[in-house]
Amino acid sequence: SPRVFSGIQPSGDLHLGNYLGAIRRFVPLQDTHETIYCVVDMHAITVWQEPEALRRATREVAAAFIAAGVDPKRSIVFNQSQVVQHAELAWVFNCVARMGWMARMTQFKDKAGKNSENVSLGLFAYPSLMAADILLYKATHVPVGDDQKQHLELTRDIAAKFNNDYAASIAAEGVGAPDGQFFPITEPLIAGPATRIMSLRDGTKKMSKSDPSEQSRISLLDDADAIAKKIKKATTDPAELPLEVDGLKDRPEADNLVGIYAALSDKTEADVLAEFGGQGWGKFKPALADLAVAVLAPMAGEMQRLLDDPETIDAVLRDGGERAGAIAEKTMAEVRSIIGFIR
Ligand code: ATP
Ligand code: MG
Repeated sequence: SPRVFSGIQPSGDLHLGNYLGAIRRFVPLQDTHETIYCVVDMHAITVWQEPEALRRATREVAAAFIAAGVDPKRSIVFNQSQVVQHAELAWVFNCVARMGWMARMTQFKDKAGKNSENVSLGLFAYPSLMAADILLYKATHVPVGDDQKQHLELTRDIAAKFNNDYAASIAAEGVGAPDGQFFPITEPLIAGPATRIMSLRDGTKKMSKSDPSEQSRISLLDDADAIAKKIKKATTDPAELPLEVDGLKDRPEADNLVGIYAALSDKTEADVLAEFGGQGWGKFKPALADLAVAVLAPMAGEMQRLLDDPETIDAVLRDGGERAGAIAEKTMAEVRSIIGFIR
């Protein structure tokens, strides 16, 4: 049966890109797929996290899932570190994946910058843990933003190499799918108008939790005032909005803001330009701020309400961890015998 897995790192304040590119899309998938949504705390520590901030951010991601409409009874919602099999399978994948595959990852190059000798080994191996997250549940589909496309391709390469390296053992153990494969070749789900929301300060950089500038992102817990100020200050070119979508080419900042408006209002960019084309930013930016507040404020309220009761969130994560753990252990037991580990 089709099974969805996706994860968000508790590595800072959740932002509009996380919501439009990922979290919002988790909700309708609950009607058609078995859904597993994970707060990937083990990924977060690939860069330094203060322990108390990590706990707070973990609960914030869980609260965002639920406030956006993820139902923890229908979906499995948990934090990664509760299911130790993620680490165990990641080790196996560290031995399947090749150094050269990892070295090509643009996220590593972006995050390591010029200082790659002094970043954690975990940051380099990040895609291996991500492949483990997905394949532990034999997930067939992964809804993510465009920035994760390359990592998803690597997940497919790891699955294919494992299936191939161990083909004889998979057959001997009788644990393959009807097509003989053990791990599925997972499909990314990267679709919609908001697969890559850009920074408000720099139209060539994606909006990120880890961007040091708070002005670069609209956080899901920002109040109306903060949202309006950030949009007002957002970098733009001086020209007015174009009449046609074609006119957004080579105008990354304008394209980004029009795209955000379209995504938040469930319209196309053409619809948005039919309304605002030919007008200046002084008209468009306040309208965008009002729209963002109308969408985000109710969700922020619900998140705050949930965060006021951390024990309940922790109980949700624990329950999800037990349900995820049962699936994970079944896969891992098979993996151990495929490899030749004695139990
Ligand atoms: P970090 O800077 O710590 O990597 P992040 O903002 O990139 O944080 P992640 O937890 O790495 O967030 O990613 C969670 C999900 O949000 C992924 O599916 C990712 O593709 C998606 N996502 C992240 N940034 C954006 C963005 N700017 N636009 C659309 N989707 C995004
Ligand atoms: Mg990221």
